[in-house]
Amino acid sequence: MGLSERISNFVKLNVAKRKLKSRDIDSSKGNPLEMWGLLKIKKEIAANEELSYLGKDYGLKRDDIKEYKLYKFKQLLDYVSKNSPYYQELFEKEGIKSTNIKSMSDISKVPLTTHEQLIQNPYHFLCVSRREIAREFTTSGTTTTETADLKKRISYTQDELLDIVDSVISGLKMAGMDSEKDMLQIMYPTLTATWDPGLVLSKACDLAGFKSVINDSSDINDQINTMVNSGTTFIIGKSSFIYDLSKSASNLDKLRSLGIKNIICSSEPLTEEMKEVIEDAWGCTAVRQWGMTELGLANAIECTEQNGMHVNNPDFLVEVVDPDTGQVLPEGSEGELVFTTLNRRCMPLVRYRTKDLGVLLDEPCDCGTTLDQRIKNVRRMEN
Ligand SMILES: [Zn+2]
Repeated sequence: MGLSERISNFVKLNVAKRKLKSRDIDSSKGNPLEMWGLLKIKKEIAANEELSYLGKDYGLKRDDIKEYKLYKFKQLLDYVSKNSPYYQELFEKEGIKSTNIKSMSDISKVPLTTHEQLIQNPYHFLCVSRREIAREFTTSGTTTTETADLKKRISYTQDELLDIVDSVISGLKMAGMDSEKDMLQIMYPTLTATWDPGLVLSKACDLAGFKSVINDSSDINDQINTMVNSGTTFIIGKSSFIYDLSKSASNLDKLRSLGIKNIICSSEPLTEEMKEVIEDAWGCTAVRQWGMTELGLANAIECTEQNGMHVNNPDFLVEVVDPDTGQVLPEGSEGELVFTTLNRRCMPLVRYRTKDLGVLLDEPCDCGTTLDQRIKNVRRMEN
């Protein structure tokens, strides 16, 4: 790398650091993911006359958050009607207007978006010009025969990528990571895909001032050596990978003596049985993390109460629908998770069917957070 390139990277890194809200969050003052979300919402309320009544006298309450999300949803409808060729055409045909959305229950009038529509119209969802795209990710399509070889293309602007990094840092802080004391060992098997979650995480750690080390070896002794040499205290990786690794350990006393504080299991559902095996092997908690490439990957993570994953508020509006009829189901029932991206500008998705089943919880979590919406018992839908 030449000197001028190094200087420009240094400048970019420092600009990026300054934009991160999560860096200034003090974990001892509450739930870091919630504090990050509230900072974002408050900033928007302060800049927006129409929202100024929210939380004016008593601070933000759960009802204010719902009002805020409804407002954001309507704003998103206007935005995609103007900027996304796909939604423009669809909403014109179906007569969908933001002015027809008066309450949360009206949201079900807006058509759902499916994986197939995303695959068939790769660039019609784009709301910005191609040169504003910082990264395009492709992700495997579907198993139906006619679209088997097609992939989904998901694009992000630079600011959106930074926002994802910001949410990752807040999530790691919520899992208990401390920039001074802790070391994160990142365990994702090396992928041939166009992007690598291990690298995204390691970049996030650099920006947050967290220490991290990557090891993708499926050999438990190799992983242990890295832990001893690096002073690892946190582990993150693909659920099945960590599970297989944990099962392959012959000396559990050795694992438990390493002093691992928390293990974050991501990318795949973690069953209760898998969780027990992992927690028993390492002698610490294993928490779940959930995300999809289409939604920006880091979308929800469990707090220490381990009663459902906290969704990254205020970025998403979550619904649960009947997978067969698409009808919205009441809170607490199992159904297909449907996500609306409330803050994306590059490629927002309205009522996106995730093909994952889960339960949506709306009651407050025992960790004391104000923000609503947690998801629980998430698993893949059978085809
Ligand atoms: Zn909680």
